[in-house]
Amino acid sequence: PVPHRSVEDALVTRACPVPEPVAGAAPRRLLHHLVPSSQTRPLPQHPPTLQLRLVEEQPKNIDPLVLDLVNTKIVERGPPVQWTDIAGQVSVKATIEEELVWPILRPGAYTGAGRPPRTILLFGPRGTGKTLLSRCISTQLGSTLLKLSGTTLLSTWKAEAEKILQTVFFVASCRQPAVVLITEAESMLLARAGEDVSSLKSQLLSYLDNISTSSEQNVVIIGTTSRPGSMDEASHRRFAKRFYISPPDSIARRQILHHALAQQSCCLSEREMSSLVQHTESFTGSELVQLCQHAGATTLHGLQGQLQPTSYQDLEKAFCKVRPAASQKELDLFLEWDKLYGTRH
Ligand code: ADP
Repeated sequence: PVPHRSVEDALVTRACPVPEPVAGAAPRRLLHHLVPSSQTRPLPQHPPTLQLRLVEEQPKNIDPLVLDLVNTKIVERGPPVQWTDIAGQVSVKATIEEELVWPILRPGAYTGAGRPPRTILLFGPRGTGKTLLSRCISTQLGSTLLKLSGTTLLSTWKAEAEKILQTVFFVASCRQPAVVLITEAESMLLARAGEDVSSLKSQLLSYLDNISTSSEQNVVIIGTTSRPGSMDEASHRRFAKRFYISPPDSIARRQILHHALAQQSCCLSEREMSSLVQHTESFTGSELVQLCQHAGATTLHGLQGQLQPTSYQDLEKAFCKVRPAASQKELDLFLEWDKLYGTRH
């Protein structure tokens, strides 16, 4: 990529691709930072003074190429996600909405003890909707979402890992409110972190501390992990709230299956749907979607190769291809970890 002339230039042209604001006398380059980062979502209003100050205080050592990478590969521009798009997790969603989302949208209305949480850890098997939930939180906050995979940072981008992390939080600060989502967070917070991880680990821990204590930062950090046990206690306790995102219960499975099958004009009888729900216990949301997709892929029937609606038999066959990845023993371990360290909700 062609390097931008300056960090400021990169932020203006990349991070805030929005129309010129029409407001008053502030310098143009600063006004760019005051306008919402996405035109697709209705955004709540946040006081501009804080953002102005943060932009003026930008560190001098931000590398324009890294900034460009963050803006193109880490700042997410996906479609908005609503609470209703996430099946199940009723009480986790309610707690997050009450304790994290509302206090940010309506500062002053928070009646809980201490400062509202700004850091949360979502743990559970892969494919249970941790990323989906994080996207939803970001949508509800009208925030910029920066999504960084811990393992990608430590493999593909290893040489630049610390610079990238620093730049991610710099961009988050400039574009508040922002959500920094770190998937596979455990890879950066390993209990026995080797040399290559340990400085990154302390860098992330200090961001977690800063975000939790600074009253000026409208930045939320969400860590997700399917291996919570590989983190040391000092690390996972840095997250103010820790929620277990379990495989869906029967009501949620029905919703996910119903939604996925509706895309394939499949209409099961009530008895067939109940049987499907019963036979998919401990499947994750993602596995349920895959099951339906596999079943759908086998429906090119008939002499003219016309697409037929997926049938119950197609779904039965798909069971040979898609099985739940997590064993009951693994699920029990998540429950145990939740009992020890999870936040009650
Ligand atoms: P994780 O981050 O836990 O690995 P994802 O959020 O990436 O899981 O989920 C992958 C996909 O599985 C989602 O995009 C969605 O299609 C489906 N999915 C998982 N859980 C749910 C859920 N609770 N409700 C609706 N869809 C879900």
